[in-house]
Amino acid sequence: MTEVTVIGAGVIGLSAALMAQARGLSVTVIDREGPAAGASTGNAGAFAFTDILPLASPGILRKAPKWLLDPLGPLTIPPAYALQITPWLYRFWRACSPRAVAASTAAQTSMMELSRAELEPFLAATGTLGMLMKYGNLQVYETEAEFRAALPGWEARTEHGIEFRHMTAEEMAELQPGLSPRFTRGTFTPGWWSIADPKDYVLALAERFQAEGGTILRAEVTGLKPQDSGVSIQTKSAPLSADKVVLAAGAFSHRIAATLGERIPLETERGYNTTLPADALDLRCQVTFGGHGFVVSRLTTGVRVGGAVELGGLSLPPNYKRSEAMLRKAKTFFPTLKTEGGKQWMGFRPSLPDSLPAIGRSKASPHVVYAFGHGHLGLTQSAGTARLVADLLTDARPPLNLTPFSPQRF
Ligand SMILES: Cc1cc2nc3c(=O)[nH]c(=O)nc-3n(C[C@H](O)[C@H](O)[C@H](O)COP(=O)(O)OP(=O)(O)OC[C@H]3O[C@@H](n4cnc5c(N)ncnc54)[C@H](O)[C@@H]3O)c2cc1C
Repeated sequence: MTEVTVIGAGVIGLSAALMAQARGLSVTVIDREGPAAGASTGNAGAFAFTDILPLASPGILRKAPKWLLDPLGPLTIPPAYALQITPWLYRFWRACSPRAVAASTAAQTSMMELSRAELEPFLAATGTLGMLMKYGNLQVYETEAEFRAALPGWEARTEHGIEFRHMTAEEMAELQPGLSPRFTRGTFTPGWWSIADPKDYVLALAERFQAEGGTILRAEVTGLKPQDSGVSIQTKSAPLSADKVVLAAGAFSHRIAATLGERIPLETERGYNTTLPADALDLRCQVTFGGHGFVVSRLTTGVRVGGAVELGGLSLPPNYKRSEAMLRKAKTFFPTLKTEGGKQWMGFRPSLPDSLPAIGRSKASPHVVYAFGHGHLGLTQSAGTARLVADLLTDARPPLNLTPFSPQRF
């Protein structure tokens, strides 16, 4: 039986491990901290299938200068990391051309369609369907000008068949009571789903994987080496080997890919949040404050307030003033929000400059499959990615064109 080792027990690694297992492969997962240690633990819990427009777009270039002026605002570059992030920013800027945006929107749409189609069967097969919630997302706007500026993006979604409804303040008050009247317009997307709690979900996947005979090892992988008929895996403890390896180590994946001689421009968009007790707010759906770069999410385990992007790399200490700044704003946007008893968190979104993940075989070895770089959308695209990884591992024909996701595209 083919022995597969998956590096990374986040939502991508474990989903891929479960799908590979379902194809009859013998699968081991390695994580230096155990399951649900990384970005997959504390995210906003959204299956944002309607989010087909790449972050790299002319719109972000318009907003960025204003955002960058606020040191605790939606987008920051700590001075200590400004030089290191420059090459990635240059690639990001190049990905904002209308042609590049059209190409990545088409690719992202195909990935979203696949991910949505794969999700419910995957949840059913892994006994986690009860964690799926379908209450939609309300994107809110403070001014008519902000709403109008968002309309081309909504038109682009219409072209891709995405359902949404623009709303007046009165309609929003009915859908989500308690929202400040400063928000005069909104757009509701019913096709935006959520998970009850992202950490509980990943832990449930880990449990299922082990119950089906899978092994989870705790070890830090330091490198990979192609062998004639497999891959040797160096770790901080004993070396291991496998017939095939899936690299799904989130924002740290490029370090392991580098040991195979591949330079992949993976950076991290650090994100922050605060999780409040579940009775902090009577939240009916997820609410997105796009102009302020954060969301308020309804989980069964709490109300999560967060988002923001800090291009600060993997080593700088977290700056939880960002979590506090978003919570303060959330209190003015939802005046009845109870802000006591919150837990702060920072996570490393694994991000490639064109807002698309890297899914495909390594150039150094056909036995190594890359599955990382999902940025803001790792949970959303986890089932779709798992399907593609399982196809690559079993030499089956993938249901979509993988060229836009090639790890070698940069
Ligand atoms: C604030 C915030 C909100 C977000 N909201 C959403 C959302 O609502 N919807 C959505 O779809 N996405 C969201 N995301 C993005 C999403 O969380 C990520 O895209 C996703 O979790 C990435 O999953 P992953 O499995 O690739 O990485 P991770 O979850 O980070 O897992 C990687 C794993 O690899 C392990 N690892 C790393 N290096 C090594 C090594 N050398 N050896 C062994 N193990 C190693 C780590 O310990 C970790 O467990 C959000 C992210 C943030 C930060």
